[in-house]
Amino acid sequence: MSVITSSLKPRPGILEISPYVGGDAGAPGFARPIRLASNESALGPSPKAIAAYQALAGEIHRYPDGGALLLRTALGRLHGVDPSRIVCGAGSDELIALLLRAYVGAGDEVLYSRHGFLMYPIGARAVGATPVAAPERALTADVEALLSRVTEKTRAVFLANPNNPTGTYLREAEVRRLHEALSPSVLLVIDAAYAEFVARDDYDPGLSLVEQAENVVMLRTFSKIYALAALRLGWAYCPPAVADVLNRVRGPFNVNAAAEAAGVAAVEDTGALARARAHNGRWLPWFSERLSALGLELTPSVADFVLARFPEDPGKNSDAAFAFLRSRGILVRKLKAYGLPHHLRISIGAGEEMETVAAALGEFLGRR
Ligand SMILES: *Cc1c(COP(=O)(O)O)cnc(C)c1O
Repeated sequence: MSVITSSLKPRPGILEISPYVGGDAGAPGFARPIRLASNESALGPSPKAIAAYQALAGEIHRYPDGGALLLRTALGRLHGVDPSRIVCGAGSDELIALLLRAYVGAGDEVLYSRHGFLMYPIGARAVGATPVAAPERALTADVEALLSRVTEKTRAVFLANPNNPTGTYLREAEVRRLHEALSPSVLLVIDAAYAEFVARDDYDPGLSLVEQAENVVMLRTFSKIYALAALRLGWAYCPPAVADVLNRVRGPFNVNAAAEAAGVAAVEDTGALARARAHNGRWLPWFSERLSALGLELTPSVADFVLARFPEDPGKNSDAAFAFLRSRGILVRKLKAYGLPHHLRISIGAGEEMETVAAALGEFLGRR
């Protein structure tokens, strides 16, 4: 990667980072493109969250509550957990970075699975550590492969469950098997950004494992099903000692007041959550079946997006499909940075949007 030279030297590892590139937000010629590149919820935020955000306008000269007490209390009530073990952050991205800063240093290794979320290797390099990618099986994290890559330098294991961008998940029993085989001195981070979308009996986001272990943290976000991505809000459920450490290293006002107010209202609006989940429960299978019927190879997803593999011939490949959709004002995600050059990731949007995308892909593939 090209580097802008300077006599100022950042710490080792930082210039090896390829900056994270988010999904496209605009398509030329379209004032309101169909945005399916970032897994933002199809239905938008709870109207109560929007109202809470707006009601804060007269208060923005005040510092927020640095402890985010109202939000932690609301989350504790919703999930039946102890608010003192919750630490909130400016998105789960901030919590990933804080965990790495607190527990991982130069020369250490951070383990993740091959097509795991990109912020894990980026965050590892930012603290001078070496990201180690374990191979997957059928685009799914593989417990044996992860365990076989653990060395005496491994300080943390990051598992997105379900994973972005593959949409696959590990059963609760497999996550427990992974945890049981790890040394208590290795931190296991379960990133459950898509937990609310999963409708499988054998899935568990990890709250109970956090309560039983001293080395497990679960991360959640308000950017996906709660549709508050612009406000940057996430939370970690931690063993008491980890919460204590995060509270020492985080910024004193890392969660802004608008995010906290909207977050509390969103947590309390269980009806909006149920509607978002029901919408995904309807359109994820609908869209998956449509794409399969077009001959695309789909990875079974339990989240709010699908991963589709395109043919390799130039007229029908993922680049051509991406360009075709973009020319129709439809934005999806390319995945070369994830080592998936033949795939596109398409978020579940509004019903009419999914109908439009399915029809456009039918046209692209010459099957209507
Ligand atoms: C989207 C996503 C996040 C959320 O990040 P925020 O910083 O909370 O917006 C975290 N982990 C995974 C796997 C994601 O896909």
